[in-house]
Amino acid sequence: MKQAPRSGERLLPITDAERQARVRLAACYRIFDYLGWTELIFNHITLRVPGPETIFLINPFGLHYREVTASNLVAVDLQGRPVRPTDYPVNLAGFVTHSAIHGAIEAAHCVMHTHTTTGSAVACLEEGLSHDSFYGAQLHGRVAYHVFEGVTVNPDEQARMIASIGDKRVVILRNHGLLTWGETLEEAFMWLWLLQRACDIQVAAAQTGRLRRLPAHVLAQTHLEAAGRQPETCKAAFDALVRQLDRVDTSYRD
Ligand SMILES: [Zn+2]
Repeated sequence: MKQAPRSGERLLPITDAERQARVRLAACYRIFDYLGWTELIFNHITLRVPGPETIFLINPFGLHYREVTASNLVAVDLQGRPVRPTDYPVNLAGFVTHSAIHGAIEAAHCVMHTHTTTGSAVACLEEGLSHDSFYGAQLHGRVAYHVFEGVTVNPDEQARMIASIGDKRVVILRNHGLLTWGETLEEAFMWLWLLQRACDIQVAAAQTGRLRRLPAHVLAQTHLEAAGRQPETCKAAFDALVRQLDRVDTSYRD
Protein backbone atom coordinates (compact mmCIF):
# COMPACT_ATOMS: atom_id res chain seq x y z
CA MET A 1 0.00 0.00 0.00
CA LYS A 2 1.35 3.38 -0.92
CA GLN A 3 1.99 5.92 1.81
CA ALA A 4 -0.17 8.97 1.06
CA PRO A 5 1.45 12.34 0.48
CA ARG A 6 0.31 15.42 2.38
CA SER A 7 -3.40 15.79 1.76
CA GLY A 8 -4.76 18.57 -0.37
CA GLU A 9 -1.44 19.48 -1.96
CA ARG A 10 -0.58 19.32 -5.62
CA LEU A 11 1.63 16.51 -6.83
CA LEU A 12 5.12 17.88 -7.37
CA PRO A 13 6.61 17.00 -10.75
CA ILE A 14 10.03 15.32 -10.83
CA THR A 15 12.33 17.87 -12.45
CA ASP A 16 15.52 17.11 -14.38
CA ALA A 17 17.46 18.48 -11.39
CA GLU A 18 15.73 15.99 -9.12
CA ARG A 19 16.40 13.14 -11.53
CA GLN A 20 20.10 14.00 -11.55
CA ALA A 21 20.15 14.33 -7.76
CA ARG A 22 18.48 10.92 -7.46
CA VAL A 23 21.11 9.20 -9.62
CA ARG A 24 23.98 10.91 -7.81
CA LEU A 25 22.59 10.07 -4.36
CA ALA A 26 21.79 6.46 -5.30
CA ALA A 27 25.41 6.13 -6.50
CA CYS A 28 26.53 7.50 -3.15
CA TYR A 29 24.56 4.87 -1.23
CA ARG A 30 26.19 2.15 -3.38
CA ILE A 31 29.63 3.69 -2.84
CA PHE A 32 29.04 3.62 0.94
CA ASP A 33 28.28 -0.08 0.57
CA TYR A 34 31.40 -0.57 -1.56
CA LEU A 35 33.45 1.12 1.19
CA GLY A 36 31.81 -0.93 3.97
CA TRP A 37 30.13 2.12 5.52
CA THR A 38 26.72 0.46 5.94
CA GLU A 39 24.82 -0.38 9.13
CA LEU A 40 22.18 -3.01 8.34
CA ILE A 41 19.11 -0.96 7.25
CA PHE A 42 20.04 2.06 9.37
CA ASN A 43 21.76 5.43 8.84
CA HIS A 44 21.05 7.97 6.15
CA ILE A 45 22.51 10.15 3.48
CA THR A 46 20.17 13.02 2.65
CA LEU A 47 20.36 15.44 -0.25
CA ARG A 48 18.37 18.56 -0.98
CA VAL A 49 16.81 18.68 -4.43
CA PRO A 50 17.96 21.83 -6.30
CA GLY A 51 15.07 24.20 -6.93
CA PRO A 52 12.58 26.44 -5.18
CA GLU A 53 10.86 23.66 -3.21
CA THR A 54 12.37 22.48 0.07
CA ILE A 55 12.58 18.77 -0.73
CA PHE A 56 15.10 16.18 0.41
CA LEU A 57 15.89 12.71 -0.87
CA ILE A 58 16.38 9.91 1.64
CA ASN A 59 16.81 6.13 1.54
CA PRO A 60 13.67 4.00 1.85
CA PHE A 61 13.59 2.52 5.36
CA GLY A 62 14.01 -1.25 5.33
CA LEU A 63 16.34 -1.49 2.34
CA HIS A 64 20.07 -2.14 2.42
CA TYR A 65 22.19 0.56 0.81
CA ARG A 66 22.93 -2.04 -1.92
CA GLU A 67 19.23 -2.00 -2.84
CA VAL A 68 18.87 1.77 -3.15
CA THR A 69 18.10 3.05 -6.64
CA ALA A 70 17.42 6.48 -8.12
CA SER A 71 13.70 5.72 -8.31
CA ASN A 72 13.17 4.22 -4.86
CA LEU A 73 14.69 7.15 -2.98
CA VAL A 74 11.90 8.94 -1.12
CA ALA A 75 11.35 12.69 -1.55
CA VAL A 76 10.33 14.25 1.75
CA ASP A 77 9.75 17.69 3.21
CA LEU A 78 11.67 19.05 6.20
CA GLN A 79 9.36 17.14 8.54
CA GLY A 80 10.15 13.87 6.76
CA ARG A 81 6.70 13.59 5.16
CA PRO A 82 6.72 12.12 1.63
CA VAL A 83 5.78 14.69 -0.99
CA ARG A 84 4.51 12.01 -3.39
CA PRO A 85 2.93 8.57 -3.02
CA THR A 86 5.62 6.02 -2.17
CA ASP A 87 5.84 2.28 -1.59
CA TYR A 88 8.41 2.79 1.15
CA PRO A 89 8.36 4.16 4.67
CA VAL A 90 10.80 6.80 5.94
CA ASN A 91 12.67 6.36 9.22
CA LEU A 92 11.36 9.55 10.81
CA ALA A 93 13.43 9.13 13.99
CA GLY A 94 16.57 8.83 11.89
CA PHE A 95 15.67 11.82 9.74
CA VAL A 96 15.34 14.12 12.77
CA THR A 97 19.11 14.63 13.03
CA HIS A 98 19.38 15.34 9.31
CA SER A 99 16.37 17.66 9.23
CA ALA A 100 17.73 19.67 12.15
CA ILE A 101 20.88 20.40 10.15
CA HIS A 102 19.11 20.94 6.80
CA GLY A 103 16.64 23.25 8.54
CA ALA A 104 19.12 25.31 10.55
CA ILE A 105 22.06 25.59 8.14
CA GLU A 106 21.08 27.04 4.75
CA ALA A 107 24.24 25.75 3.04
CA ALA A 108 23.80 22.18 4.31
CA HIS A 109 22.45 20.59 1.12
CA CYS A 110 23.81 17.15 1.95
CA VAL A 111 24.14 15.38 5.32
CA MET A 112 25.85 12.01 5.84
CA HIS A 113 25.94 9.86 8.97
CA THR A 114 27.71 6.57 9.66
CA HIS A 115 28.28 4.07 12.46
CA THR A 116 31.49 2.52 11.09
CA THR A 117 33.44 0.55 13.67
CA THR A 118 36.51 2.78 13.78
CA GLY A 119 34.40 5.94 13.50
CA SER A 120 32.22 4.87 16.41
CA ALA A 121 35.31 3.75 18.35
CA VAL A 122 36.89 7.19 18.04
CA ALA A 123 33.53 8.75 18.96
CA CYS A 124 33.66 6.72 22.19
CA LEU A 125 37.12 8.01 23.16
CA GLU A 126 37.36 10.69 25.83
CA GLU A 127 40.03 12.53 23.79
CA GLY A 128 38.09 12.17 20.52
CA LEU A 129 39.83 12.41 17.16
CA SER A 130 43.62 12.47 17.01
CA HIS A 131 45.02 15.03 14.60
CA ASP A 132 48.38 13.27 14.48
CA SER A 133 47.98 11.60 11.08
CA PHE A 134 48.02 12.89 7.51
CA TYR A 135 44.21 12.96 7.45
CA GLY A 136 43.66 13.85 11.09
CA ALA A 137 45.93 16.89 10.69
CA GLN A 138 43.81 18.15 7.78
CA LEU A 139 40.81 18.10 10.10
CA HIS A 140 42.54 20.10 12.82
CA GLY A 141 40.23 22.92 13.92
CA ARG A 142 37.40 21.54 11.79
CA VAL A 143 35.69 19.02 14.07
CA ALA A 144 32.65 19.67 16.25
CA TYR A 145 31.53 17.34 19.03
CA HIS A 146 28.01 16.72 20.28
CA VAL A 147 27.31 14.65 23.40
CA PHE A 148 25.08 11.59 23.27
CA GLU A 149 21.67 12.12 24.85
CA GLY A 150 19.90 8.95 23.72
CA VAL A 151 18.77 7.22 20.55
CA THR A 152 15.88 9.56 19.83
CA VAL A 153 16.73 13.18 19.10
CA ASN A 154 13.93 15.36 20.50
CA PRO A 155 13.26 19.00 19.50
CA ASP A 156 15.20 20.30 22.53
CA GLU A 157 18.25 18.28 21.54
CA GLN A 158 18.00 19.51 17.94
CA ALA A 159 18.79 23.05 19.16
CA ARG A 160 21.65 21.82 21.35
CA MET A 161 23.05 19.80 18.46
CA ILE A 162 22.98 22.80 16.12
CA ALA A 163 24.74 24.87 18.81
CA SER A 164 27.37 22.11 19.18
CA ILE A 165 27.94 22.00 15.41
CA GLY A 166 28.31 25.77 14.95
CA ASP A 167 29.98 26.34 11.59
CA LYS A 168 31.82 22.99 11.53
CA ARG A 169 31.10 20.55 8.69
CA VAL A 170 32.75 17.59 10.38
CA VAL A 171 30.94 16.31 13.45
CA ILE A 172 31.71 13.54 15.91
CA LEU A 173 28.56 12.44 17.71
CA ARG A 174 30.12 11.31 20.97
CA ASN A 175 29.59 7.65 21.94
CA HIS A 176 27.65 7.30 18.67
CA GLY A 177 29.19 7.89 15.24
CA LEU A 178 30.28 10.29 12.52
CA LEU A 179 28.43 13.00 10.63
CA THR A 180 29.40 15.47 7.93
CA TRP A 181 27.56 18.01 5.85
CA GLY A 182 28.41 19.92 2.71
CA GLU A 183 27.07 22.37 0.17
CA THR A 184 27.23 19.48 -2.28
CA LEU A 185 27.08 15.71 -1.95
CA GLU A 186 30.68 15.52 -3.15
CA GLU A 187 31.87 17.93 -0.45
CA ALA A 188 30.07 16.08 2.35
CA PHE A 189 31.54 12.83 1.01
CA MET A 190 35.10 14.21 1.00
CA TRP A 191 34.81 15.39 4.60
CA LEU A 192 33.46 12.01 5.65
CA TRP A 193 36.16 10.16 3.74
CA LEU A 194 38.88 12.23 5.43
CA LEU A 195 37.30 11.66 8.83
CA GLN A 196 36.87 7.93 8.25
CA ARG A 197 40.50 7.55 7.12
CA ALA A 198 41.69 9.53 10.16
CA CYS A 199 39.66 7.23 12.45
CA ASP A 200 40.95 4.07 10.72
CA ILE A 201 44.56 5.19 11.12
CA GLN A 202 44.07 6.38 14.70
CA VAL A 203 42.63 3.03 15.77
CA ALA A 204 45.31 1.07 13.88
CA ALA A 205 48.11 3.19 15.34
CA ALA A 206 46.73 2.85 18.89
CA GLN A 207 46.90 -0.93 18.54
CA THR A 208 50.52 -0.73 17.43
CA GLY A 209 52.24 1.72 19.75
CA ARG A 210 52.26 5.22 21.19
CA LEU A 211 51.13 8.02 18.86
CA ARG A 212 53.81 10.48 17.84
CA ARG A 213 52.30 13.93 18.31
CA LEU A 214 52.47 16.61 15.61
CA PRO A 215 53.60 20.07 16.77
CA ALA A 216 51.08 22.93 16.81
CA HIS A 217 52.71 24.87 13.96
CA VAL A 218 52.50 21.81 11.66
CA LEU A 219 48.82 21.33 12.55
CA ALA A 220 48.15 25.00 11.82
CA GLN A 221 49.99 24.76 8.48
CA THR A 222 48.16 21.56 7.50
CA HIS A 223 44.82 23.14 8.36
CA LEU A 224 45.58 25.89 5.83
CA GLU A 225 46.81 23.46 3.18
CA ALA A 226 43.94 20.96 3.48
CA ALA A 227 42.49 20.60 0.01
CA GLY A 228 39.51 18.40 0.79
CA ARG A 229 36.98 21.18 0.55
CA GLN A 230 37.88 22.37 -2.96
CA PRO A 231 34.82 21.62 -5.15
CA GLU A 232 36.78 20.33 -8.15
CA THR A 233 38.79 17.92 -5.97
CA CYS A 234 35.65 16.66 -4.24
CA LYS A 235 33.90 16.11 -7.58
CA ALA A 236 36.91 14.38 -9.18
CA ALA A 237 37.27 12.00 -6.24
CA PHE A 238 33.59 11.10 -6.22
CA ASP A 239 33.48 10.74 -10.02
CA ALA A 240 36.36 8.25 -9.79
CA LEU A 241 34.33 6.11 -7.40
CA VAL A 242 31.23 6.34 -9.60
CA ARG A 243 33.31 5.01 -12.52
CA GLN A 244 34.37 2.01 -10.41
CA LEU A 245 30.74 1.45 -9.52
CA ASP A 246 29.62 1.68 -13.16
CA ARG A 247 32.08 -1.09 -14.07
CA VAL A 248 30.39 -3.60 -11.77
CA ASP A 249 26.76 -2.54 -11.32
CA THR A 250 24.68 0.23 -12.89
CA SER A 251 21.39 -0.83 -11.30
CA TYR A 252 21.52 2.17 -8.94
CA ARG A 253 20.54 4.31 -11.94
CA ASP A 254 17.16 2.54 -12.28
ZN1 LIG B 1 23.37 7.14 14.33
